[in-house]
Amino acid sequence: MIVKPRIRGFVCITAHPKGCEAKVRQEVEIAKAAKKSGGPKKVLVIGSSTGYGLSTRIAAAFGHDAATLGVFFERPSIKGKPASAGWYNSVAFEKAAHEAGLYAKSINGDAFSDEIKAQTIETIKADLGQVDLVVYSLASPRRTDPKTGETYKSVLKPIGESFTNRSLDTDKNEVCEVTIAPAEGDDVEHTIKVMGGEDWELWMDALDQAGVLAPGAKSVAYSYIGPELTWPVYTNGTIGQAKKDVERAAAAITAKHDCAAYVAVNKAVVTQASSAIPVVPLYISILFKIMKAKGTHEDCIEQMVRLLNDRLYGDDLELDDVGRIRVDDWEMEADVQQAVADIWPSITSETLFSESDYAGYQENFLNLFGFSLPGVDYDEDVEVDLELPSAQ
Ligand code: NAD
Repeated sequence: MIVKPRIRGFVCITAHPKGCEAKVRQEVEIAKAAKKSGGPKKVLVIGSSTGYGLSTRIAAAFGHDAATLGVFFERPSIKGKPASAGWYNSVAFEKAAHEAGLYAKSINGDAFSDEIKAQTIETIKADLGQVDLVVYSLASPRRTDPKTGETYKSVLKPIGESFTNRSLDTDKNEVCEVTIAPAEGDDVEHTIKVMGGEDWELWMDALDQAGVLAPGAKSVAYSYIGPELTWPVYTNGTIGQAKKDVERAAAAITAKHDCAAYVAVNKAVVTQASSAIPVVPLYISILFKIMKAKGTHEDCIEQMVRLLNDRLYGDDLELDDVGRIRVDDWEMEADVQQAVADIWPSITSETLFSESDYAGYQENFLNLFGFSLPGVDYDEDVEVDLELPSAQ
């Protein structure tokens, strides 16, 4: 079929198989160009199909020749409809990895469940023996607790009072204003249940108990801090409380297992998760313009190459005062933040394309779903029903 983008708010409900493959291949080339020895060898990536998790998988496989097992929750093609982007990314990743002679298998299902943890452990036992790096990169709006069966929903809300700021209406390409009501009831606790560290700890307990965690292994989960203008909805909001819980979990995992667990604070990038956060897309558009002009702009893959090569397996982790790895360092440079703050109050719908890199934001967003990639013929009839190579 001929697949065109069908955008609904901050998601695109279609994805292009060849475009997703082209994007994965671009990232593979970047990881290969930064190839290094001394990195991870057998890697489990939980949340490996899009965004930071996918790029970590690519950086480990093609930058360090690592065997990778990926876990994700994606939609294969059903009744002739295109699969989700993460499905096509994973098909393309496995194809490229197998071509390069690298082990790559994937497990599609709910990572929060006991069943998927058990299936993952069985696969590690059968194929890899043990893993020496566990990457935890889930971004999910809900989680069902496997012990109680209760389902929790995460929300992106400020705490205490409502928050009004400028934002972007990506349907109309306009700068607008949003007001977000404060968290109420169990919002904070539920967001911590979904996006906090509990499930990461359950994974590490299960892996260790099954004997599939290599002695001296490493683990990393991701967080974000960002500028003060997003703090009410991010760092000081419900999601920020969940991220604090991830930091608690890192310390608990390190204390309990023979494994060094870290939180890496990553840069703001366009992903399916970040495009859903109010205020953030406008900030990202301005940030990209400033960082591109300065020559410090990075996307997921450059961030993850730097995280593995220079920090986790480099000479210096460069931890901050509370023990986190900071690959958001270039985003947070004072001159970059000042330049964003100078543009922020005056940007309008009329100056959106000149005062920010909104064009770059739009391009990145389309790329997430395999659209607007060079060298892909979007008028061509393509097969949408693709199987994961490891399942064939
Ligand atoms: P993303 O939406 O691109 O990826 C989420 C991944 O989680 C996908 O692989 C998806 O399949 C998987 N997933 C979701 N629910 C699942 C489930 N129930 N079972 C199995 N897999 C499931 O998100 P992202 O932006 O790459 O976020 C990953 C991490 O990086 C998050 O912790 C996020 O807070 C953090 N982070 C993101 C940014 C940013 O700007 N995007 C910045 C810093 C940190």
